[in-house]
Amino acid sequence: MTLFDTIVMVDWSSGNDTGPSPRKDAIWVGVSRNGQTEEPVYLRNRQLAEKWLVSLLTQEQSSGRRVLVGFDFPFGYPAGFAKALTGSSDPLMIWDWFEERIVDTPKGNNRFDLAGKVNLGLGDGKGPFWFNGLRREIVGLPRTKTGYVNPFPDRRKAEELAKGTFTCWQMGGAGAVAGQVMSGLPVLARLRRQFDVAVWPFQTLDKAVTFVEIWPSLTVGPAPDGWIKDAWQVTETTKQIAALSSDRLAVMLAVDAPEEGWIFGLGFEAELTAPPLRNDCFALPQGVHWTPVNEALTLLQERLTPVAKIETARAETGLGRIAAAAIVANRANPPLPNTAVDGYGFAGGRGRGAHSLPLLRGRAAAGDAPGVVPDGHAIRVLTGAALPEGVDTVVLQEDVVHVAGEIRFSGPVKTGANTRQAGEDVIQGQTIVEPGRRLTAADLAIMAATGLRDIELRKPLKVGILSTGDELVDAGEDAVAGQIYDANRPMLAALVTAFGHEPVDLGRVPDDRGVLRRRLNAACASVDAFLTSGGASAGDEDHVSALLQEVGALSLWRIAIKPGRPLALGIWQGVPVFGLPGNPVAAMICTLIFARPAMEILAGGRWSEPQGFQVPAGFSKSKKAGRREYLRARMRDGKVEVFASEGSGRISGLAWAEGLVELPEPAGDIKIGDLVRYIPYRSFGL
Ligand code: AMP
Ligand code: MG
Repeated sequence: MTLFDTIVMVDWSSGNDTGPSPRKDAIWVGVSRNGQTEEPVYLRNRQLAEKWLVSLLTQEQSSGRRVLVGFDFPFGYPAGFAKALTGSSDPLMIWDWFEERIVDTPKGNNRFDLAGKVNLGLGDGKGPFWFNGLRREIVGLPRTKTGYVNPFPDRRKAEELAKGTFTCWQMGGAGAVAGQVMSGLPVLARLRRQFDVAVWPFQTLDKAVTFVEIWPSLTVGPAPDGWIKDAWQVTETTKQIAALSSDRLAVMLAVDAPEEGWIFGLGFEAELTAPPLRNDCFALPQGVHWTPVNEALTLLQERLTPVAKIETARAETGLGRIAAAAIVANRANPPLPNTAVDGYGFAGGRGRGAHSLPLLRGRAAAGDAPGVVPDGHAIRVLTGAALPEGVDTVVLQEDVVHVAGEIRFSGPVKTGANTRQAGEDVIQGQTIVEPGRRLTAADLAIMAATGLRDIELRKPLKVGILSTGDELVDAGEDAVAGQIYDANRPMLAALVTAFGHEPVDLGRVPDDRGVLRRRLNAACASVDAFLTSGGASAGDEDHVSALLQEVGALSLWRIAIKPGRPLALGIWQGVPVFGLPGNPVAAMICTLIFARPAMEILAGGRWSEPQGFQVPAGFSKSKKAGRREYLRARMRDGKVEVFASEGSGRISGLAWAEGLVELPEPAGDIKIGDLVRYIPYRSFGL
């Protein structure tokens, strides 16, 4: 179910009427209906804007459509203000309070006077509001912050996190929002009475209309030439929100800020701004005949961005999956100071010589709530027990004799000996997993230890795997003369699985452009990337490259690599395509070297170079200059040996090998015992 049929994002203005022709400092509105974003709406003053909103909501309500309306001003004030102003902590009471007192016309309003009155009542006329935008003096409203006293916090929690926001106390000046709040909330208060509205995050969102607070600058940068900034920002914000799936929208709306309110999307900026891949994201420099491997890799690293969706999942199910956001400790580890050994606890270290301390009855064991130990006494403690109050030092039980109600031991024992400090491992709020990391067993342990249950993970990248070629049949089928079995599909599916993605078998297609087109079209809504093999060069029967060429999205990669032939890279209906050569050896090498790191980025992971090792060669070879070579190789007796034949059709060599030897671009004369770079298959995740 979609949460909202219509998305409306309003950039409010506290200024006066801006005239008939569209200009800045007016009210601008972005609208998206059923996924279609419309031209931004220009509204020259607040009275017109209110009328426009009434007619929009009337229309949407009568057609039974659910509407999300965003406004770019705070819905609440820093903690304490609501109560002081209205006698209630309910922020919606402030809305009504303003609605009763604000007098607004296209030529101006009484907000400065009202701010002065509030100041006189709550802050001796020295705050919380400041900045008088009028010529005349206003009693109680300071012009500057000199002598300013604010009885309330300067910022809301959300504003502390959203860098660049203005406080709601500053009544004027470039970028100030206080005037927008005072002139905007009365309008929202009236709309709320007239329509079936839920206000986020103060109310349950079960109404036909939902109001949310937005701040477009959170996720939208400067406007391109020819655009008015506000018009651009509302349009982009509308698109970003309209593009969210219902479940992601629900996650972003699940916010607990009952008094101050919140800014929609705070903490989800990266997800909201994820740019679509550009059609030319695989373009290589013009005029270069053979692109060096590293240059091609750098381009992939720079241009690709994550496309895998995000979901909330149980932390314990996260093994091998990618963290979509920083994972932050819910609680310190250890949460309290505790004992690292079985022994006796007391306060303070002891110097050299013999010591004795009266022993309390009872003991402190792991799981016990910490009790109290009077000074000069000791208590029996067991590993993991939280230290009782009055205990900061533990002596090992093996070092103690226990006689007649006291313990005896010889010093020295340092203060803090045999104890663990609270938070010595992890403190609350510390990032324990960086975004983009694939979770390991140890990550599951630290997440559990710090109390995490639900985390944000990337959904596995779905990789559609397709073979092309008239000559192909599947193993087990009847093969007539001239036909060969499709070796690439099972290989590529296995590689994709080993990389941690989800392969989607798209079968085989003959060398027929129409069939290929239909197959790609049918799949592109359900996969995040295509891995095709065959037909990637520039020949008559190379339909993968020809098809991408037709839509102007082909980059034919001629890379200085052996084995390898041209690769056809491109974007098909927004989905990246890695068109591999048909030859299985080249297909596998190109997958390991190019598609693997590229897909990791698409999956939301980190760019990674495979770990290689300098090892003595067990072979000799003279290598020509100009391209990088990968040899099928394995380690035996401390040396790396290579497969006898470099023939690129020899799948048996891929299977014989346990890794690759990478020979750099310059010419080389490798002799037995020379150091060469060996990359085990394991370094590619295999
Ligand atoms: P192509 O890149 O389409 O020109 O194919 C290059 C070579 O790889 C040809 O000898 C093809 O028969 C062979 N080939 C293409 N696809 C596959 C496949 N899926 N399995 C095995 N060999 C293939
Ligand atoms: Mg072919």
